[in-house]
Amino acid sequence: MTLASLNPDIVVIGAGTSGLSSAKSLKDFGYSVIVIEANSDVGGRCITNNSIFDTPFDLGGSWLHSAATNPLANIAIKKNAKLHKKNWSPTWVHSNGRDLSPQETKEYSQYIEDMWKNINNIGTRKDDLSVEKLIPKSKWKDIAKNQISLMLAADPDVSSALDVFHFTNTKGDWLIESGLGTFIKNIYSDIKVFVNCPASKIDYSSSGVKVETPQGIINAKYAVLTVSTGVLAREQIKFYPALPPRKQEAINLLPIGLLNKIGLEFDPRWKGAHQGQSADYLIGENDFCSIEFGFYDSNIAVGFVGGRFAEQLEMDGPGTATSFCLDSLKAIFGNDIVKFIHKTTETAWKSNKNTHGSYSYAVPGGHGARQTLAEPLDDRLFFAGEATMSNTQATVHGAYLSGIEVAEKISKIDK
Ligand SMILES: Cc1cc2nc3c(=O)[nH]c(=O)nc-3n(C[C@H](O)[C@H](O)[C@H](O)COP(=O)(O)OP(=O)(O)OC[C@H]3O[C@@H](n4cnc5c(N)ncnc54)[C@H](O)[C@@H]3O)c2cc1C
Repeated sequence: MTLASLNPDIVVIGAGTSGLSSAKSLKDFGYSVIVIEANSDVGGRCITNNSIFDTPFDLGGSWLHSAATNPLANIAIKKNAKLHKKNWSPTWVHSNGRDLSPQETKEYSQYIEDMWKNINNIGTRKDDLSVEKLIPKSKWKDIAKNQISLMLAADPDVSSALDVFHFTNTKGDWLIESGLGTFIKNIYSDIKVFVNCPASKIDYSSSGVKVETPQGIINAKYAVLTVSTGVLAREQIKFYPALPPRKQEAINLLPIGLLNKIGLEFDPRWKGAHQGQSADYLIGENDFCSIEFGFYDSNIAVGFVGGRFAEQLEMDGPGTATSFCLDSLKAIFGNDIVKFIHKTTETAWKSNKNTHGSYSYAVPGGHGARQTLAEPLDDRLFFAGEATMSNTQATVHGAYLSGIEVAEKISKIDK
């Protein structure tokens, strides 16, 4: 039986969290569903690697953010997943050639907290501003700007403050010991996915949809498209008719940002840092990384680089981000620290042709584009994925919720 002969009710394009979640909900509504995925594996931007280190390593999403209201956190509890609930905070801060004193580190942490409050005050205004315009003047401003680049995967001068304001942030950032990618994969292990099967064209010109793939053309009543705004912006999928200008504009207002990770496996004999502790390192105005120790309470530390600086490191070639991270560790803990690091790895999400980055951000004035991106076309072509969410954007739980929402939309229209 060929893929083209299956004629499902719905074809879901992309087997990341949103695609898998929509497929499950649609099946629960009684539809026949086919899921196609460009990559050789499922998971998209939420994927665990189990072979680099002895400990699972999430290459993409790892935290269940806003655990108090995160539906995936609830599922994890019900499934008795081993959870790590400790929060990280700056323990060592090295800014432009010197270590901050413990008192300064405390002041810096407080400043970061106040800065987020200030950004969130944008909610009282109707117009939008860049996040940068709301960072209070202070000697900590440079380092704070770089912290924001990690959170948003984009620099504060290009990011919408309203988009940050609308993000629902509740307490708790939890890690799942098996890796969040493995957890998501396990929840949806019963969903059949056709891998190595990229959609190249979607024809939604008459009743139903036709999706072209290397394994044949799939005819279905509806399509759910879940690819990143990076993939959409690069027009890797052709549309017939072409996407309307307002949809195209929404894609342009929601670029994909960049956050890369550097994984470091320490010799267990190194007891210099523990779970919950982190080291921030800044040199110049923009060269910044934050290293968080004791992931999953193991000897794994994870360095993060974000925004333009992460792009620069990735463009400069494999190993550049790792070298920067190791230099940061040497500056903070002394040169001998590298003797305790047994293995390293780094991600390169910008170069990933199935995503082109890490997660979406809105440019100033772009928050409303999330709703536009979520709107179906001709009640046949539906959109899901983290970028379509107005309050849980850029997250795994946002992707999960978008999959459920799109299934509900289809079932209402189909009545
Ligand atoms: C480094 C990093 C750290 C992160 N940290 C966190 C975190 O700690 N917590 C959190 O909540 N979120 C985090 N995120 C964000 C989170 O991982 C994403 O928001 C979420 O996984 C996106 O899911 P999605 O289903 O919207 O998109 P995706 O996972 O990108 O799924 C889309 C799928 O479509 C496939 N595809 C692309 N083109 C085609 C095509 N032509 N045909 C068929 N399939 C195609 C892709 O391969 C992909 O599998 C992080 C992301 C990264 C990269």
